[in-house]
Amino acid sequence: MSKIIQGKRIARELCDRVAIEAAEFRQKHGLPPALAVVLVGANPASEIYVRQKVVECRRAGIRSMEYRLPAVTPEAALLDLIDSLNQDATIHGILVQLPLPDHIDASEVLDAIDPGKDVDGFHPVNVGRLSTGTAGLIPCTPLGCMMLVDTVVDELRGKHAVVIGKSNIVGKPVALLLLERECTVTVTHIATQGLPDIVRNADIVVVAAGVPHLVRGHWVKPGAVVIDVGITRRERSDGKASIVGDCATEEMAHADAVTPVPGGVGPMTIACLLANTLKAARTLNDG
Ligand code: NAD
Repeated sequence: MSKIIQGKRIARELCDRVAIEAAEFRQKHGLPPALAVVLVGANPASEIYVRQKVVECRRAGIRSMEYRLPAVTPEAALLDLIDSLNQDATIHGILVQLPLPDHIDASEVLDAIDPGKDVDGFHPVNVGRLSTGTAGLIPCTPLGCMMLVDTVVDELRGKHAVVIGKSNIVGKPVALLLLERECTVTVTHIATQGLPDIVRNADIVVVAAGVPHLVRGHWVKPGAVVIDVGITRRERSDGKASIVGDCATEEMAHADAVTPVPGGVGPMTIACLLANTLKAARTLNDG
């Protein structure tokens, strides 16, 4: 049987470490690391994500402020809020929950965040730093994926990694992180021909397509490590929702290790947000 990578436990350990270091930060600087979370409109999934983030921040001793704006908020008003958060020295991280309402240009908004406070790692400065392999704030989900890979792979150098999905928030940054560790990286996407054969060559598979059970057991070679980023909510007949990943994990007994959904990459994303907030606070205060 393949190992199940216990994302929930690994994320809890990371949150516990952040809590200890956040307390040290508070002692040293007389104020806690602080995260501002901005939510525009009432998207139910975003509400859940924001609530989870705020709860975990508080548990780790990170001050979190929620800014809830109505869906009709003009872009200029949102930019004004970001400007004031950029200026506020007691705030170290700024996260604007996506998606934003259609009348707001998300890239304008993300570009307005001070790169030093950009705990999501989406600002072009941080994207550039990631692509040049220089220290910056790394997007939380890709960072979490790498931490999970590191729990089961001793040496990444020379391994063949196949990434499924090329989004700016998961596929591209995770591919860059794998490349930085000297994996041979193949990035695939919706237009890729012969995906199963490409995946069959992979030592490491990271899938972030949002297509339930896209990756089947016979696509995966024996001994591979499979990181499933996908999250699709499905309504069940009993009226409750369940969460489905992008991999048919039950067909992967021959893999070395796989992440579960839920309880794999998801909890790591939040834990890495806390870690990024602490990192931003330290960089802003200690240089
Ligand atoms: P996206 O829609 O922006 O990108 C999806 C990518 O998958 C695209 O590049 C597309 O070309 C590719 N793709 C789609 N169908 C494909 C197919 N049949 N074969 C090959 N490639 C295909 O999505 P995203 O924002 O990158 O998110 C991907 C998934 O990861 C979603 O399910 C999302 O909910 C989930 N996600 C999870 C977390 C987490 O914390 N666990 C964080 C971010 C995203």
